[in-house]
Amino acid sequence: MNLNKVTVDDINVAGKKVLVRCDFNVPLKDGVITNDNRITAALPTIQKLINDGGKVILCSHLGKPKNGPEAKFSLAPVAVRLSELLGKEVVFADDDTVVGDNAKKAVAEMKDGDVVLLQNTRFRKEETKNLEPFSSELASLAEVFVMDAFGSAHRAHCSTAGVTDHIKDTAVGYLMQKEINYLGNAVETPVRPFVAILGGAKVADKLNVISNLLEKCDTLIIGGGMAYTFLKAKGYEVGTSLVDDTKIDYCKEMIKKAEDLGKQLLLPIDTTITKDFPDPIDAPIEVTVVDSNKIPADMMGLDIGTKTAELYADAVKSAKTVVWNGPMGVFENPILAKGTIAVAQSLADTDATTIIGGGDSAAAVIQLGFADKMSHISTGGGASLEYLEGKVLPGIAVIADKK
Ligand code: ATP
Repeated sequence: MNLNKVTVDDINVAGKKVLVRCDFNVPLKDGVITNDNRITAALPTIQKLINDGGKVILCSHLGKPKNGPEAKFSLAPVAVRLSELLGKEVVFADDDTVVGDNAKKAVAEMKDGDVVLLQNTRFRKEETKNLEPFSSELASLAEVFVMDAFGSAHRAHCSTAGVTDHIKDTAVGYLMQKEINYLGNAVETPVRPFVAILGGAKVADKLNVISNLLEKCDTLIIGGGMAYTFLKAKGYEVGTSLVDDTKIDYCKEMIKKAEDLGKQLLLPIDTTITKDFPDPIDAPIEVTVVDSNKIPADMMGLDIGTKTAELYADAVKSAKTVVWNGPMGVFENPILAKGTIAVAQSLADTDATTIIGGGDSAAAVIQLGFADKMSHISTGGGASLEYLEGKVLPGIAVIADKK
């Protein structure tokens, strides 16, 4: 797909102050970064701007601070890790107001190729409401704006959208380009057969994704908690499985839509059942596998069964493009992770282009050791889902089109 946006390869930043919106929203435990994927993913753009002699001013949000500044959401650990990864100093401008005296002083002292990281943009209450004066304050620091935070591109916030009301020289970074190329190509111009796999807890979370992907793909595979509403829509008894009764008609509509379009819609033919939901979630439990139309009234389905795992693996085997979002079962429990592992394995074994749409499925693939076997693992859960729904992401829309 041709992304018709100005990119960092189209601009000349030598000697200029460049504000870069990154997605440094990394998981932290007791102040220690437990997964730095999002920082590594941002490096190519930062390195390019340094090499070109820009003054690189980075910003990001981290977590969800409620009422302004909170020490546990400081970006300080990110500055340290980033500095290690770049092999050069990253000045951390620690301002509770983000664009305060420290930030202004740090920016004023920058030489070409220097890097400054601002404090968490969500320390400002305007950020998530996209309100002034924060957008203009951020913009006042720089002459060029680069958007590289794919994971935040589905939100119109000051640092992802509002800032472009004041800076007209804009571009997308390499990470944005890569995410949009993979997800965009898969959905808009897939090499066929194109198989989409959707799982996760609830149908309601993925209504538009199901409908949009059904139009684009050749085969839609449904697993996870959301499968049981589909099975009930087919008239099956699903026992105490997770069901959204308000979405049964929707599922019937989707089953009909698949028929009308001549698309294959695969649902679990067997399912792994248990009496009670494990508590704690990873507690040892006893399970049996039954056909999907034979779930007893007092049992719940918590994973796809073995025959289903084979059916889904077969569909993946003949695919040329696969997009996957959402686990096939309660993968947090090793006994109920088998379906998710089987699907991850089938993606790892294929030569098809394989794209993991962020969120829990990305975490599962990384945790299970399949990361380097996938063509692309999206850094944005919510953003990739909205992209798969066919929505225009505000953080992309605000960037200048190529002339
Ligand atoms: P994200 O929203 O972060 O992108 P996701 O889309 O990959 O995540 P979710 O919709 O959040 O997935 O659902 C993941 C959760 O669904 C997991 O915690 C898993 O335990 C749960 N889940 C999967 N299958 C079932 C099931 N059969 N019954 C109940 N819960 C399930």
